[in-house]
Amino acid sequence: MEQRQAVVFPRRDGVFAPARVKALGDALQQHQDRVRKLQWTIVAIYLFLLITPACLPEADPRAGVFDSLACFAEALFWGVWWPGVILSMLIFGQFWCGLLCPDGTITEFASRRGRGLKVPAWMRRPALPLLLFCLITFYEHLIDAFHSASMTLLLVGGVSLFSLITGLIYGRGKRVWCRFLCPGASIFSLLSRCAVLHFRVDRAKWDAAPRPVPRAVDCPPLLDVRRLKSNEKCNMCGRCSGHRQAVALSWRWPGEEIAALEPGEAREWEAVGIVFALIGLLYAVAHWHGSFWHLWILAALRQWAGDAALWHAEASRWLFLQGGEPGNLIGALAALLSIVGAMLALGALVGAGLLTAAHGQKKLACALAYALIPLAGIGLALGAMEYSLSILARNGVNAWNILPWLRLVGTLTGLCWSVSIARRLLRRWDRRARVHALALPLFAALAGLLAVAYQFAPTPT
Ligand code: SF4
Repeated sequence: MEQRQAVVFPRRDGVFAPARVKALGDALQQHQDRVRKLQWTIVAIYLFLLITPACLPEADPRAGVFDSLACFAEALFWGVWWPGVILSMLIFGQFWCGLLCPDGTITEFASRRGRGLKVPAWMRRPALPLLLFCLITFYEHLIDAFHSASMTLLLVGGVSLFSLITGLIYGRGKRVWCRFLCPGASIFSLLSRCAVLHFRVDRAKWDAAPRPVPRAVDCPPLLDVRRLKSNEKCNMCGRCSGHRQAVALSWRWPGEEIAALEPGEAREWEAVGIVFALIGLLYAVAHWHGSFWHLWILAALRQWAGDAALWHAEASRWLFLQGGEPGNLIGALAALLSIVGAMLALGALVGAGLLTAAHGQKKLACALAYALIPLAGIGLALGAMEYSLSILARNGVNAWNILPWLRLVGTLTGLCWSVSIARRLLRRWDRRARVHALALPLFAALAGLLAVAYQFAPTPT
């Protein structure tokens, strides 16, 4: 994707002045040793909070945050970290990945000491991280990993273990895991396209750099910095800042990268991912619990299976379904059907809406799917915050009454953001090929319906 001319909108002399932002990028580049110390501190805290609770007796999931280490870790992982990371990706880009992520630190460390093999062709498939993300998300909800320290260790720790193994086998001091496999990065790379910060490369200055030119940038996710045009894979580590005096951390309008999409840059598989995973799947997993469709499916399954729970117990144990309690296979099956059903239904409706708005033009429908990222990202953050509210409620702080207002502010912001991106995108595309006059109103109507779905989404009972 092309990064157009940087748009400088903050005041030139304020805290957010472009020169200060550039200096921040340069400071990251100059203080990599401090960044590394911070990264290893995070790794130590992360491993402690991941492993220790799993070694202790399983805590009561309804206990307060400070009643046990497991509850504290759960609150930190799912109540603070997850919503915080989603919002930071959407607004500022993938700084978390480049500066703080423990998996990134571990894989890079391992890669400096590993076998250094070339990245195989099967690993370069662009949709692979998104597929892994979907599979992990399904399983995470089936085993209710949020409420169990050992299940969290199995899933979250399993991902960290794979990042270590990938580092030991592939790349020479690089983050092959982050670039080609990390499941979370598949979602982060979508959200970060909307961010207001990016590392901008001035090609003219790059090419005109005086000789001898400095050593090539040590870019952890193996990007060709000279041709950097998108936040998609940039970990915002800052190591390239100031290189050849051509790379600088800069402001841009929120969603600028998407509004500037060219017809050849909108990828079909990514549009499908936005519609079915970012919107469909993540809505389904955040709201299946307590939804009328889940209760309906559960009742139907119970009626169908009767009381013969013996094989349920055996299968449940094999699949780690919520401790292998008899009958939980039915619960897990109902959860799976609720999630898959809601995901497919919502994804298909949004996909059909986009095709209608684009008047059947597939490329334009794909580009418009990207314009829905801000609304979908805020919807995802709202779902994550809901979990934070449930943790607060367990600790005697009932803040549920702020949820409708939180949703209202969030969905309205996301709606305006998405529609403004679509308006700019359609205006640009209209200059080349005639865009249907109803494209924007139809897109706005679709985004409005999606905002209503987020606003009135079911909450856990
Ligand atoms: S382009 Fe590479 S080196 Fe530069 S900030 Fe992004 S990840 Fe870091």
